[in-house]
Amino acid sequence: MSYLSHLECALCGEEFEADRVWNLCPKCSRPLLARYDLETARQRLSREKIAQREATLWRYRELLPVRNPRYILCLGEGWTPLIHAAQLGKTIGFENLHIKDEGLNPTGSFKARGLGVALSRACELGVKVVSIPSAGNAAGAMSAYAALAGMEAHVFMPQDVPPLFVSECHVLGAEVTLVDGLITDCGRVAAEGVRLFDRFDISTLKEPYRLEGKKTLGYELAEQMGWTLPDVIIYPTGGGTGLIGMWKAFDEMEKLGWIGPHRPRMITVQSEGCAPIVRAFQQGQEFAAPWQDAHTVADGLRVPAAVADFLILRALRESDGTAIAVSDQEMLEAARLIGRTQGIFVCPEGAATLVAFQHLRRQGRISDGERVVLFNTGSGLKYAHLWAQ
Ligand SMILES: *Cc1c(COP(=O)(O)O)cnc(C)c1O
Repeated sequence: MSYLSHLECALCGEEFEADRVWNLCPKCSRPLLARYDLETARQRLSREKIAQREATLWRYRELLPVRNPRYILCLGEGWTPLIHAAQLGKTIGFENLHIKDEGLNPTGSFKARGLGVALSRACELGVKVVSIPSAGNAAGAMSAYAALAGMEAHVFMPQDVPPLFVSECHVLGAEVTLVDGLITDCGRVAAEGVRLFDRFDISTLKEPYRLEGKKTLGYELAEQMGWTLPDVIIYPTGGGTGLIGMWKAFDEMEKLGWIGPHRPRMITVQSEGCAPIVRAFQQGQEFAAPWQDAHTVADGLRVPAAVADFLILRALRESDGTAIAVSDQEMLEAARLIGRTQGIFVCPEGAATLVAFQHLRRQGRISDGERVVLFNTGSGLKYAHLWAQ
Protein backbone atom coordinates (compact mmCIF):
# COMPACT_ATOMS: atom_id res chain seq x y z
CA MET A 1 0.00 0.00 0.00
CA SER A 2 2.87 2.46 0.65
CA TYR A 3 5.34 3.58 -2.04
CA LEU A 4 7.97 4.30 0.63
CA SER A 5 11.35 3.41 -0.89
CA HIS A 6 14.13 4.65 1.41
CA LEU A 7 15.26 7.40 3.78
CA GLU A 8 17.59 10.22 2.83
CA CYS A 9 19.53 12.64 5.04
CA ALA A 10 18.29 16.20 4.55
CA LEU A 11 21.80 17.61 4.91
CA CYS A 12 24.41 15.13 3.61
CA GLY A 13 22.13 13.19 1.24
CA GLU A 14 23.24 9.74 2.45
CA GLU A 15 20.56 7.05 1.90
CA PHE A 16 19.28 4.51 4.42
CA GLU A 17 17.06 1.45 4.39
CA ALA A 18 13.51 2.38 5.46
CA ASP A 19 12.32 -0.79 7.19
CA ARG A 20 14.12 -0.46 10.48
CA VAL A 21 13.98 2.18 13.20
CA TRP A 22 16.12 5.28 12.75
CA ASN A 23 16.43 8.57 14.54
CA LEU A 24 18.80 11.22 13.12
CA CYS A 25 21.32 10.61 10.32
CA PRO A 26 24.09 8.49 11.90
CA LYS A 27 26.66 10.47 9.87
CA CYS A 28 25.73 14.12 10.42
CA SER A 29 22.98 14.05 13.10
CA ARG A 30 20.47 15.88 10.93
CA PRO A 31 16.91 14.79 9.98
CA LEU A 32 16.18 11.82 7.73
CA LEU A 33 13.45 12.30 5.11
CA ALA A 34 11.16 9.56 3.77
CA ARG A 35 11.40 9.07 0.01
CA TYR A 36 8.83 7.31 -2.19
CA ASP A 37 8.70 5.69 -5.59
CA LEU A 38 6.72 8.57 -7.05
CA GLU A 39 7.16 7.31 -10.62
CA THR A 40 5.09 4.19 -9.92
CA ALA A 41 2.68 6.14 -7.71
CA ARG A 42 2.12 8.55 -10.58
CA GLN A 43 1.00 5.70 -12.84
CA ARG A 44 -1.24 3.92 -10.34
CA LEU A 45 -2.75 6.65 -8.21
CA SER A 46 -5.03 9.47 -9.28
CA ARG A 47 -6.63 12.52 -7.74
CA GLU A 48 -10.03 11.06 -8.64
CA LYS A 49 -9.31 7.88 -6.69
CA ILE A 50 -8.22 9.90 -3.64
CA ALA A 51 -11.38 12.02 -3.81
CA GLN A 52 -13.58 9.00 -2.98
CA ARG A 53 -11.76 8.04 0.18
CA GLU A 54 -12.28 8.44 3.92
CA ALA A 55 -12.17 11.89 5.52
CA THR A 56 -8.87 11.39 7.38
CA LEU A 57 -5.26 11.89 6.40
CA TRP A 58 -5.08 8.18 5.57
CA ARG A 59 -6.74 9.01 2.26
CA TYR A 60 -3.12 9.66 1.14
CA ARG A 61 -1.92 6.29 2.52
CA GLU A 62 0.27 5.35 -0.49
CA LEU A 63 2.31 8.49 0.23
CA LEU A 64 2.60 7.69 3.93
CA PRO A 65 5.12 5.25 5.46
CA VAL A 66 2.89 2.49 6.90
CA ARG A 67 3.11 -0.63 4.71
CA ASN A 68 0.48 -2.84 6.34
CA PRO A 69 -2.90 -1.19 7.05
CA ARG A 70 -3.42 -3.26 10.20
CA TYR A 71 -0.90 -1.03 11.97
CA ILE A 72 -2.78 2.19 11.26
CA LEU A 73 -3.77 3.95 14.49
CA CYS A 74 -6.69 6.16 13.58
CA LEU A 75 -8.69 8.54 15.77
CA GLY A 76 -10.00 10.57 12.84
CA GLU A 77 -6.93 12.80 12.31
CA GLY A 78 -6.74 15.14 9.35
CA TRP A 79 -9.17 16.30 6.65
CA THR A 80 -10.00 19.35 8.74
CA PRO A 81 -12.08 22.13 7.21
CA LEU A 82 -10.58 24.89 5.10
CA ILE A 83 -12.88 27.77 5.93
CA HIS A 84 -13.33 30.82 3.74
CA ALA A 85 -13.17 33.46 6.49
CA ALA A 86 -15.56 35.84 4.77
CA GLN A 87 -16.81 37.55 7.92
CA LEU A 88 -13.35 38.10 9.34
CA GLY A 89 -12.22 39.20 5.88
CA LYS A 90 -15.03 41.73 5.63
CA THR A 91 -14.09 43.17 9.03
CA ILE A 92 -10.46 43.68 8.09
CA GLY A 93 -11.02 44.52 4.43
CA PHE A 94 -9.61 41.47 2.63
CA GLU A 95 -11.61 39.05 0.61
CA ASN A 96 -9.61 35.95 -0.04
CA LEU A 97 -8.75 34.87 3.47
CA HIS A 98 -8.98 31.20 4.49
CA ILE A 99 -8.43 29.43 7.79
CA LYS A 100 -7.35 25.81 7.91
CA ASP A 101 -8.86 24.84 11.25
CA GLU A 102 -6.62 22.24 12.82
CA GLY A 103 -8.27 22.65 16.23
CA LEU A 104 -10.72 19.93 15.17
CA ASN A 105 -8.10 17.19 15.20
CA PRO A 106 -8.02 14.48 17.91
CA THR A 107 -6.45 15.99 21.07
CA GLY A 108 -7.29 19.48 19.77
CA SER A 109 -4.23 20.26 17.69
CA PHE A 110 -2.47 19.36 14.44
CA LYS A 111 0.12 17.45 16.47
CA ALA A 112 -2.28 14.51 16.00
CA ARG A 113 -1.20 14.29 12.35
CA GLY A 114 2.47 13.83 13.08
CA LEU A 115 2.08 11.59 16.09
CA GLY A 116 -0.68 9.48 14.51
CA VAL A 117 1.54 8.61 11.56
CA ALA A 118 4.79 8.32 13.56
CA LEU A 119 3.28 5.96 16.13
CA SER A 120 1.56 3.85 13.48
CA ARG A 121 4.90 3.37 11.74
CA ALA A 122 6.74 2.80 15.03
CA CYS A 123 4.15 0.15 15.86
CA GLU A 124 4.76 -1.52 12.50
CA LEU A 125 8.50 -1.52 13.18
CA GLY A 126 8.01 -3.22 16.56
CA VAL A 127 8.52 -0.30 18.95
CA LYS A 128 6.95 -0.87 22.39
CA VAL A 129 7.99 2.16 24.45
CA VAL A 130 7.98 5.78 23.24
CA SER A 131 9.36 9.00 24.67
CA ILE A 132 8.83 12.66 23.76
CA PRO A 133 9.89 16.12 24.97
CA SER A 134 7.08 18.58 24.30
CA ALA A 135 5.99 22.16 24.82
CA GLY A 136 2.45 20.82 25.36
CA ASN A 137 0.36 19.63 22.43
CA ALA A 138 2.72 16.97 21.10
CA ALA A 139 2.74 15.22 24.47
CA GLY A 140 -1.05 14.89 24.48
CA ALA A 141 -1.13 13.64 20.91
CA MET A 142 1.57 11.06 21.54
CA SER A 143 -0.18 9.90 24.70
CA ALA A 144 -3.39 9.32 22.75
CA TYR A 145 -1.86 7.21 20.00
CA ALA A 146 0.36 5.32 22.44
CA ALA A 147 -2.78 4.44 24.44
CA LEU A 148 -4.48 3.23 21.27
CA ALA A 149 -1.43 1.15 20.34
CA GLY A 150 -0.95 -0.27 23.82
CA MET A 151 2.53 1.26 23.99
CA GLU A 152 4.18 2.65 27.09
CA ALA A 153 4.44 6.47 26.81
CA HIS A 154 6.89 8.81 28.56
CA VAL A 155 6.33 12.54 28.13
CA PHE A 156 8.57 15.40 29.28
CA MET A 157 7.15 18.92 29.53
CA PRO A 158 8.30 22.21 31.02
CA GLN A 159 7.14 22.50 34.62
CA ASP A 160 5.23 25.73 33.88
CA VAL A 161 3.21 24.19 31.02
CA PRO A 162 -0.55 24.99 31.38
CA PRO A 163 -2.20 22.44 33.72
CA LEU A 164 -4.62 21.13 31.11
CA PHE A 165 -1.77 19.79 28.96
CA VAL A 166 -0.54 17.79 31.95
CA SER A 167 -3.99 16.47 32.89
CA GLU A 168 -4.59 15.38 29.31
CA CYS A 169 -1.47 13.18 29.32
CA HIS A 170 -2.36 11.67 32.69
CA VAL A 171 -5.89 10.81 31.57
CA LEU A 172 -4.47 9.27 28.40
CA GLY A 173 -2.30 6.99 30.49
CA ALA A 174 1.19 8.45 29.93
CA GLU A 175 4.02 8.69 32.44
CA VAL A 176 4.56 12.47 32.85
CA THR A 177 7.82 14.15 33.90
CA LEU A 178 7.86 17.91 34.46
CA VAL A 179 11.23 19.55 33.89
CA ASP A 180 12.52 22.84 35.29
CA GLY A 181 13.28 24.58 31.98
CA LEU A 182 12.20 24.74 28.33
CA ILE A 183 11.49 22.08 25.68
CA THR A 184 15.23 21.91 24.94
CA ASP A 185 15.87 21.00 28.61
CA CYS A 186 13.06 18.44 28.40
CA GLY A 187 14.89 17.04 25.38
CA ARG A 188 18.03 16.54 27.46
CA VAL A 189 16.18 14.76 30.27
CA ALA A 190 14.21 12.61 27.80
CA ALA A 191 17.45 11.67 26.00
CA GLU A 192 18.83 10.28 29.25
CA GLY A 193 15.82 7.93 29.52
CA VAL A 194 16.17 6.92 25.87
CA ARG A 195 19.81 5.98 26.46
CA LEU A 196 19.17 4.06 29.69
CA PHE A 197 15.87 2.31 29.02
CA ASP A 198 15.61 1.53 25.30
CA ARG A 199 12.75 3.96 24.65
CA PHE A 200 12.13 5.18 21.12
CA ASP A 201 12.61 8.96 20.77
CA ILE A 202 9.74 10.70 18.92
CA SER A 203 11.16 14.27 19.16
CA THR A 204 10.30 16.61 16.28
CA LEU A 205 12.31 15.65 13.20
CA LYS A 206 14.53 13.29 15.20
CA GLU A 207 12.64 10.42 13.60
CA PRO A 208 11.44 10.56 9.97
CA TYR A 209 7.68 10.03 10.21
CA ARG A 210 6.11 12.85 12.22
CA LEU A 211 7.04 14.97 9.22
CA GLU A 212 5.13 12.57 6.96
CA GLY A 213 1.99 13.05 9.04
CA LYS A 214 2.38 16.82 8.95
CA LYS A 215 2.98 16.92 5.22
CA THR A 216 -0.66 15.88 4.71
CA LEU A 217 -1.47 19.54 5.50
CA GLY A 218 -0.05 20.29 2.07
CA TYR A 219 -1.94 17.50 0.29
CA GLU A 220 -5.22 18.55 1.91
CA LEU A 221 -4.76 22.19 1.13
CA ALA A 222 -4.22 21.40 -2.55
CA GLU A 223 -7.14 19.00 -2.70
CA GLN A 224 -9.48 21.37 -0.86
CA MET A 225 -8.50 24.20 -3.22
CA GLY A 226 -9.26 22.10 -6.30
CA TRP A 227 -5.62 21.02 -6.79
CA THR A 228 -4.27 24.53 -6.81
CA LEU A 229 -2.19 26.21 -4.10
CA PRO A 230 -2.78 29.58 -2.43
CA ASP A 231 -0.46 32.56 -2.98
CA VAL A 232 0.47 32.94 0.67
CA ILE A 233 0.62 30.53 3.62
CA ILE A 234 1.15 31.90 7.13
CA TYR A 235 2.35 29.30 9.60
CA PRO A 236 3.08 29.61 13.34
CA THR A 237 6.52 28.04 13.53
CA GLY A 238 8.07 26.18 16.45
CA GLY A 239 10.03 23.14 15.26
CA GLY A 240 8.77 23.83 11.74
CA THR A 241 7.46 20.35 10.94
CA GLY A 242 4.28 21.58 9.29
CA LEU A 243 6.03 24.13 7.13
CA ILE A 244 8.77 21.75 6.04
CA GLY A 245 6.17 19.02 5.55
CA MET A 246 4.01 21.16 3.29
CA TRP A 247 7.02 22.19 1.26
CA LYS A 248 7.90 18.51 0.80
CA ALA A 249 4.28 17.69 -0.09
CA PHE A 250 4.22 20.34 -2.84
CA ASP A 251 7.32 18.81 -4.36
CA GLU A 252 5.86 15.29 -4.22
CA MET A 253 2.53 16.42 -5.69
CA GLU A 254 4.27 18.09 -8.61
CA LYS A 255 6.21 14.86 -9.28
CA LEU A 256 2.89 12.98 -9.12
CA GLY A 257 1.49 15.35 -11.73
CA TRP A 258 -1.21 16.58 -9.32
CA ILE A 259 -0.18 20.24 -9.22
CA GLY A 260 1.95 22.58 -11.32
CA PRO A 261 5.10 24.53 -10.42
CA HIS A 262 3.34 27.44 -8.65
CA ARG A 263 4.33 27.72 -4.99
CA PRO A 264 2.88 29.85 -2.21
CA ARG A 265 5.09 32.33 -0.38
CA MET A 266 5.74 30.56 2.93
CA ILE A 267 5.61 32.84 5.94
CA THR A 268 6.83 31.94 9.40
CA VAL A 269 5.34 33.73 12.38
CA GLN A 270 6.93 33.49 15.83
CA SER A 271 6.53 35.30 19.16
CA GLU A 272 8.69 38.32 19.99
CA GLY A 273 9.66 36.38 23.14
CA CYS A 274 11.07 33.47 21.11
CA ALA A 275 11.98 34.19 17.48
CA PRO A 276 15.12 32.27 16.51
CA ILE A 277 13.97 31.63 12.94
CA VAL A 278 12.94 35.26 12.38
CA ARG A 279 16.34 36.46 13.57
CA ALA A 280 18.26 33.94 11.45
CA PHE A 281 16.14 34.79 8.41
CA GLN A 282 16.79 38.51 8.82
CA GLN A 283 20.51 37.97 9.33
CA GLY A 284 20.78 35.75 6.26
CA GLN A 285 21.99 32.74 8.30
CA GLU A 286 21.70 29.13 7.14
CA PHE A 287 21.19 27.84 10.71
CA ALA A 288 19.46 29.54 13.66
CA ALA A 289 21.29 30.26 16.92
CA PRO A 290 19.36 29.20 20.07
CA TRP A 291 17.12 31.89 21.60
CA GLN A 292 17.91 32.85 25.21
CA ASP A 293 15.17 33.15 27.87
CA ALA A 294 12.35 32.10 25.57
CA HIS A 295 8.92 33.15 26.80
CA THR A 296 5.46 33.36 25.19
CA VAL A 297 1.88 32.36 25.98
CA ALA A 298 1.89 30.44 22.69
CA ASP A 299 3.35 27.21 24.06
CA GLY A 300 3.78 25.68 20.61
CA LEU A 301 6.09 28.56 19.68
CA ARG A 302 8.25 28.28 22.79
CA VAL A 303 10.94 26.39 20.91
CA PRO A 304 14.32 28.12 21.31
CA ALA A 305 16.18 25.79 18.91
CA ALA A 306 14.95 23.63 16.01
CA VAL A 307 16.96 20.67 14.59
CA ALA A 308 15.60 21.38 11.13
CA ASP A 309 16.20 25.15 11.26
CA PHE A 310 18.02 25.02 7.90
CA LEU A 311 15.03 23.33 6.21
CA ILE A 312 12.63 25.99 7.51
CA LEU A 313 14.95 28.78 6.34
CA ARG A 314 15.42 27.14 2.95
CA ALA A 315 11.67 26.87 2.36
CA LEU A 316 11.13 30.50 3.36
CA ARG A 317 13.83 31.70 0.97
CA GLU A 318 13.05 29.39 -1.95
CA SER A 319 9.41 30.44 -1.79
CA ASP A 320 10.23 34.16 -1.61
CA GLY A 321 8.51 34.19 1.78
CA THR A 322 9.52 35.85 5.00
CA ALA A 323 9.55 35.54 8.80
CA ILE A 324 7.94 37.90 11.25
CA ALA A 325 7.66 38.16 15.06
CA VAL A 326 4.52 39.38 16.84
CA SER A 327 3.71 40.14 20.48
CA ASP A 328 1.67 37.96 22.83
CA GLN A 329 -0.69 40.88 23.43
CA GLU A 330 -1.41 41.11 19.69
CA MET A 331 -2.09 37.35 19.55
CA LEU A 332 -4.66 37.49 22.33
CA GLU A 333 -6.46 40.41 20.68
CA ALA A 334 -6.43 38.67 17.31
CA ALA A 335 -7.88 35.51 18.87
CA ARG A 336 -10.85 37.53 20.11
CA LEU A 337 -11.29 39.17 16.71
CA ILE A 338 -11.35 35.79 14.94
CA GLY A 339 -13.69 34.44 17.61
CA ARG A 340 -16.30 37.14 17.45
CA THR A 341 -16.31 37.61 13.67
CA GLN A 342 -15.82 34.09 12.42
CA GLY A 343 -16.93 31.77 15.22
CA ILE A 344 -13.64 29.91 15.56
CA PHE A 345 -12.04 29.61 19.00
CA VAL A 346 -8.38 29.62 17.99
CA CYS A 347 -5.21 28.97 19.98
CA PRO A 348 -2.73 31.87 20.42
CA GLU A 349 -0.41 30.28 17.81
CA GLY A 350 -3.25 30.36 15.28
CA ALA A 351 -4.11 33.93 16.23
CA ALA A 352 -0.48 34.91 15.55
CA THR A 353 -1.01 34.19 11.85
CA LEU A 354 -3.69 36.89 11.64
CA VAL A 355 -1.38 39.40 13.34
CA ALA A 356 1.38 38.56 10.86
CA PHE A 357 -1.10 38.90 8.01
CA GLN A 358 -2.11 42.37 9.14
CA HIS A 359 1.51 43.53 9.50
CA LEU A 360 2.35 42.26 6.02
CA ARG A 361 -0.74 43.90 4.56
CA ARG A 362 0.25 47.23 6.08
CA GLN A 363 3.73 46.84 4.60
CA GLY A 364 2.15 46.23 1.19
CA ARG A 365 3.60 42.70 0.99
CA ILE A 366 0.29 40.97 0.32
CA SER A 367 -1.83 42.37 -2.48
CA ASP A 368 -5.59 42.53 -2.84
CA GLY A 369 -6.50 39.62 -5.07
CA GLU A 370 -4.14 37.09 -3.49
CA ARG A 371 -5.36 33.90 -1.83
CA VAL A 372 -4.12 33.65 1.73
CA VAL A 373 -4.30 30.67 4.10
CA LEU A 374 -3.86 31.11 7.86
CA PHE A 375 -3.16 28.00 9.92
CA ASN A 376 -5.06 27.70 13.16
CA THR A 377 -2.93 24.90 14.56
CA GLY A 378 -5.02 24.12 17.63
CA SER A 379 -8.12 24.77 19.68
CA GLY A 380 -8.39 27.71 22.08
CA LEU A 381 -10.05 25.37 24.57
CA LYS A 382 -6.74 23.95 25.77
CA TYR A 383 -5.55 27.42 26.76
CA ALA A 384 -8.35 28.04 29.26
CA HIS A 385 -5.97 30.02 31.51
CA LEU A 386 -5.57 32.74 28.85
CA TRP A 387 -9.18 33.72 28.39
CA ALA A 388 -10.37 34.60 31.91
CA GLN A 389 -13.05 37.34 31.73
C1 LIG B 1 3.60 22.56 17.94
C2 LIG B 1 2.70 23.68 17.65
C3 LIG B 1 3.05 24.67 16.72
C4 LIG B 1 4.37 24.67 16.00
O1 LIG B 1 4.42 23.63 15.08
P1 LIG B 1 5.77 23.15 14.39
O2 LIG B 1 5.37 22.28 13.29
O3 LIG B 1 6.57 22.48 15.46
O4 LIG B 1 6.47 24.39 13.92
C5 LIG B 1 2.12 25.66 16.44
N1 LIG B 1 0.92 25.68 17.07
C6 LIG B 1 0.56 24.76 17.97
C7 LIG B 1 -0.79 24.86 18.61
C8 LIG B 1 1.43 23.71 18.29
O5 LIG B 1 1.05 22.79 19.18
